[in-house]
Amino acid sequence: MTAAIPSHKRCLRCQESKRAGAFYRRRNGRLSAWCQECTRDASREASRRRHANAAALERARAVDRARQRRHRWLRRPPKGGEAA
Ligand SMILES: [Zn+2]
Repeated sequence: MTAAIPSHKRCLRCQESKRAGAFYRRRNGRLSAWCQECTRDASREASRRRHANAAALERARAVDRARQRRHRWLRRPPKGGEAA
């Protein structure tokens, strides 16, 4: 007995009932739970998040570097007398 592919399916993500053709076919012959649009959407969002994370990480690193520079500067040995 083969699993019948319904002509329409409701996407679990956008809750819209769409044609079976709007869903990706999984390797096991079943239709994916999300429609193609949502699948694309989700992967786009995931990559955007990854990029945003990378940018935030880079910013944090730059702040850290600046802090370390400042730290070294503050700890530098005093040279000459301090003018009061
Ligand atoms: Zn959808």
